[in-house]
Amino acid sequence: MKKSNRQAGLRTTAIHAGEAPDPATGASAPNLVMSTTYVLDKPLGFSAQDLGDEAPFIYTRWGNPTVRQLEDKLAALEGAEAGLCFASGMAASAAVLLGVLGAGDHLVVSDTNYAGTAELVRKTLPRLGIAVTPVDASDLAAVKAALRPETRLIWTETPANPILRLSDIAALATLAQKAGVKLAVDSTFATPVATRPLDLGADFVVHALTKYVGGHGDALGGAVLGRKADLDALHLEATVHHGGVLSPFNAWLILRGAATLPLRMAAHEAGALEVARFLEGHAKVAKVLYPGLPSHPQHDLAKRQMTNFSGMIAFQVTGDGPALAARMAESLEIVHYAVSLGHHRSLIYWIGTDDLMASSFALEGTQLAAYRAFAGDGVFRLSVGLEDPPDLCRDLAGVLAGA
Ligand SMILES: *Cc1c(COP(=O)(O)O)cnc(C)c1O
Repeated sequence: MKKSNRQAGLRTTAIHAGEAPDPATGASAPNLVMSTTYVLDKPLGFSAQDLGDEAPFIYTRWGNPTVRQLEDKLAALEGAEAGLCFASGMAASAAVLLGVLGAGDHLVVSDTNYAGTAELVRKTLPRLGIAVTPVDASDLAAVKAALRPETRLIWTETPANPILRLSDIAALATLAQKAGVKLAVDSTFATPVATRPLDLGADFVVHALTKYVGGHGDALGGAVLGRKADLDALHLEATVHHGGVLSPFNAWLILRGAATLPLRMAAHEAGALEVARFLEGHAKVAKVLYPGLPSHPQHDLAKRQMTNFSGMIAFQVTGDGPALAARMAESLEIVHYAVSLGHHRSLIYWIGTDDLMASSFALEGTQLAAYRAFAGDGVFRLSVGLEDPPDLCRDLAGVLAGA
């Protein structure tokens, strides 16, 4: 994108940012550069420290032209100074957690989030000498009370998997700044179309590109966005040495997905609102959690913080959840009974509270009660895709009829 277009709208940015016609061929679409190494004009040193204007690419683990185009596009969409891509969302999350925290440090983390993140912070970080306090990140007083002199990072996810609980990014950023700690936000469910955490004061934004940004369920990827100085440090450690880099082919697929992100998010939101209203009116549905519905306990915060309510719905049923899940797996005709989210295809999955506590969250007392206030014994997590919403409602009505 030419410099004069830096003030362009979101749709233009999603399509053009980070890309330029290839100077050698004039190719309009991004080149897919699979080369692992780059021929140099003159000898250089043998380390990633030698990357620079003269030699922007030396070895693909240190940087790749196709991956760089995606990093620049994502940075433009988030309003970030810089972006870094990784092989998966978890590789991006691990890069921030292990890049900021070391032995003796303390992490305050949202007690409700993506199960992989929940398990990483509860199992791996303590083994490395990092203390971890999971808190209900929607409760500012609880976050404040959890801070210690050795706290270095607050990590939240909003809306949080699987119950779509929000946290107030601007308020958390104020708290973090006062305490001199960094704030990282996993914004996978929101995408840069809905929320721009850096504008609200966060230091790092993490995305599983596998979900909405790629959008088609065919490429794993992750990204971290933030200040250039912070990301340069992450680049040298996480990218160059931990080595979990994004494949150029996946970057190329995700670039193509990212170009339509604003249009897809508008359609995901419209579809989700229609399906959420249908579910809310269904006799067999006990509760619907969707940030775009006035019944969501944090609808006011959602209106303030999100410019799109995304396509994720969680709902409880009046009957036996696991039995209905079995029937869904057998008889849904359009919606796929499958994990993951953010794809053009609709996906649904049963997430039982006891199972989730045993495998990932291990909440007790008031924190478990706060989780149960949203989820009860369990929720169906529905990622509303881009199909015609009446078809999705008919498919769901078919299985709910027997519930
Ligand atoms: C899927 C997901 C991740 C992990 O992404 P992968 O690409 O599967 O590693 C992290 N955070 C959230 C919120 C996710 O939904």
